[in-house]
Amino acid sequence: MRVYKVKSPIDNNILYEMYDPDMMEIRRLYERAKSSFEIIRNLSIDERLRECRKIQNYVAENREWIIDRIVIENGKSRFDCLSNEIFVVLDAIEYYKKNAARILADKNVSTPLTLRGKKSKIIYEPIGVVLVLSPWNYPLYQSIVPILSAFIAGNSVIYKPSEITPLHGMIEEIIIKSGFMEEAIQVVYGGPDTGEKLIEAKPEKIFFIGGVKTGKKIMALAARQLIPVVLELGGKDSMIVFDDADLEKTAIGALWGALTNAGQACISVERIYAQENIYDHFVKTLAEKIVLLKQAHDKDNNIEMEYIDIGSMTAERQVDIVDQHVKDAINKGARVLIGGKKGSHPFHYPATLIADVNHTMKVMTEETFGPVLAVMKFATEEEAVRLANDSPYGLGASVWSKDKMRADRVARKIAAGNVCINNVMLTVANPALPFGGVKYSGFGRYKGEYGLYAFTNVKSIVIDKMNSKIEGHWFPYTPNKYKAFSDLIDALYSKSKSFLKFIWAGLKLESIAKKERLK
Ligand code: NAD
Repeated sequence: MRVYKVKSPIDNNILYEMYDPDMMEIRRLYERAKSSFEIIRNLSIDERLRECRKIQNYVAENREWIIDRIVIENGKSRFDCLSNEIFVVLDAIEYYKKNAARILADKNVSTPLTLRGKKSKIIYEPIGVVLVLSPWNYPLYQSIVPILSAFIAGNSVIYKPSEITPLHGMIEEIIIKSGFMEEAIQVVYGGPDTGEKLIEAKPEKIFFIGGVKTGKKIMALAARQLIPVVLELGGKDSMIVFDDADLEKTAIGALWGALTNAGQACISVERIYAQENIYDHFVKTLAEKIVLLKQAHDKDNNIEMEYIDIGSMTAERQVDIVDQHVKDAINKGARVLIGGKKGSHPFHYPATLIADVNHTMKVMTEETFGPVLAVMKFATEEEAVRLANDSPYGLGASVWSKDKMRADRVARKIAAGNVCINNVMLTVANPALPFGGVKYSGFGRYKGEYGLYAFTNVKSIVIDKMNSKIEGHWFPYTPNKYKAFSDLIDALYSKSKSFLKFIWAGLKLESIAKKERLK
């Protein structure tokens, strides 16, 4: 049995240990989840939303305690936690409180005249037990939002947090103390082995947030039992800065986009492309401002945790990746303006600005996931788009320009699931917008309307009258029916199409079907 030592990135102390559960325990969890599904599916959407409101109230009222827990285990700054864990969770619940009933209501859709007399509708049914596998970078947001989305759609949930930030007992405490329907969510702790066992136990759907390598494994495991998956994977987001952008605002936006959460966001700014005639000025502005940021390393200088801009990194393995990428860039000729060197603390990496990078360097091609701004020059709009799309990833991007037409044109040409114009990472801040990627950033969407449909069986229903009418396309197939059906196609779609001819052909087909029926 594997032991996981959960460390605090703040002081590198071991907080507690965890073990992988065995298959018996996992099967018991599934039994519980299956029974609770039978209850949840029969609740009205209003009843489910009432449960979510309890979590919303509890998180809002107890946020300082929740922030304490997250900061100790994840290392992020309190402000990052307040805005990008607490606020976004509350906001997502608020959106669903106002919109879920409409989104999940049965929808009547049009029925063509060729299906005269019928009605058509779409209904959204729960699917069963949903498995949510989460990463360590936003341990509250990346768990609560998919869990509650699945629940609102009528499912029960088995949730496994990352072994790096399990926040042991925290989600359970929120559930129990808020008075939320306890049996709806089963929390299970453990690492990759536990994740694999949870898949083997066959959930009805897997919602995975994590790295590309793991995403591929999950998909292969799920394929064995044909379990549908949503994969929310990594990114290498580009930021394109045109020469007419407000460089002051753009630089401050770039610093936040690249350094919030110590750069450990899937939609962090990872590649900056600045137009050649403003490149030097833009890099200088970034350099002047990056030194004003207060980082966790400065804690010894009596800076209150609340006012630290950049916290610790969360995983030692990630610090090593960042270090490797920066060293690789330096070896290939990049210019380090600020930072660029790992200190002695295993979870710290200084905010780093490097210029004159190119696409031979890992820092421009692989997910760095750390506090690094890497800036490269481009000449034309076409070149900027080509560079932005020269990546295996396609999660997010941003375009900065006063020219609205150009910004819109470029936003459309970038292969990504999210693009911001003159701002950064904001698509994730609007709970009405779907979130997800293309290429190696995964597929499927969550948040907004799609975020509920992702957890439903979208079922189509056609309703006909119970009368004696026999359809023109049913057996027996006869020469007369063939001719009448051909006439109908001509009436609808040939160059000489005509509504009158269509009515005539339709009535004729109906009358033949009545006469030439199976007797
Ligand atoms: P990870 O892939 O290592 O782990 C994610 C989760 O999967 C963890 O709970 C882990 O225990 C579990 N897991 C690992 N191996 C498994 C296996 N073989 N079978 C089943 N489960 C397994 O990811 P991470 O390092 O925790 O997170 C960082 C990555 O997540 C980054 O690449 C980041 O970009 C990505 N991410 C993506 C989004 C998004 O919405 N697209 C959001 C946040 C993070």
